[in-house]
Amino acid sequence: MRYVILRDDDTNALTPPACLERIYRPFLGRGMPVNLAVIPEVRTDVRTPDGRLEEYLTVEGSPDPRLAPIGQGRALVDYLKAEPGYHVAQHGCHHDLFEFGVSGRPELACRLERGAEVLREAGFARPAAFVAPYDRLSREAYIEVASRFGVISTGWFEARRLPRRWWASYALKKLGKRRHWQAGGRCLLSHPGCLLSFHRPRGGMLESVRKAVEGGTLTVLVSHWWEFFRGGVPDAALIGVMHEVAGWLASRPDIRVVSFGDVASRRVPIN
Ligand SMILES: [Zn+2]
Repeated sequence: MRYVILRDDDTNALTPPACLERIYRPFLGRGMPVNLAVIPEVRTDVRTPDGRLEEYLTVEGSPDPRLAPIGQGRALVDYLKAEPGYHVAQHGCHHDLFEFGVSGRPELACRLERGAEVLREAGFARPAAFVAPYDRLSREAYIEVASRFGVISTGWFEARRLPRRWWASYALKKLGKRRHWQAGGRCLLSHPGCLLSFHRPRGGMLESVRKAVEGGTLTVLVSHWWEFFRGGVPDAALIGVMHEVAGWLASRPDIRVVSFGDVASRRVPIN
């Protein structure tokens, strides 16, 4: 049996529920869980490294005010809670540029606590997993995150960013050429890059997903809902590819789509 985790990043108070519904209904309708990495209290003036406003903020016009807690998106929260297939992971706190790449532990702890509080206030269950904005974690961030979450999902791992006490486990992961690993009782999941993205040629997307899924026991597939609605316009071709992926996953009795919670509770193997 192979396992797939669908991880969609950047849902925030300004996300129109209809966008998520359009992308993910074919997955939800087939009983496949969708893990949303939710920004608890989004900073509404976040810019990319090249100075543009983050696109997940502009799908529905100009944002206001400067910090928007997820609970402010009432229709979104109601929509997410009404659909048992959605599972919420914590995606930073405000999603500042490289928010969890800094080294000050009090600041990191404060952001983790604030993020958890905002999600709780909106009525969400405690998330099993943490996803750092831009998949960037400092060594100190790993320590603070690992003390609060059973699963950390990121792009890849580098020894210089990991707590030293994890180095022996990391060396074993490298030697065994494992995708995912465990340290300090936590599951550390990597992913093969954003295969379902407007940056990639559409023709090869389903094939690249197939290769990734068939190349290991557990594959984390990362997407960003706003990439399917750039400038507020639905990208029907890209959404179509996503729906093809849903059909392909459903056609394979040897593949199960699971949640981060399934990994945290050890219901599925990671390697
Ligand atoms: Zn993000």
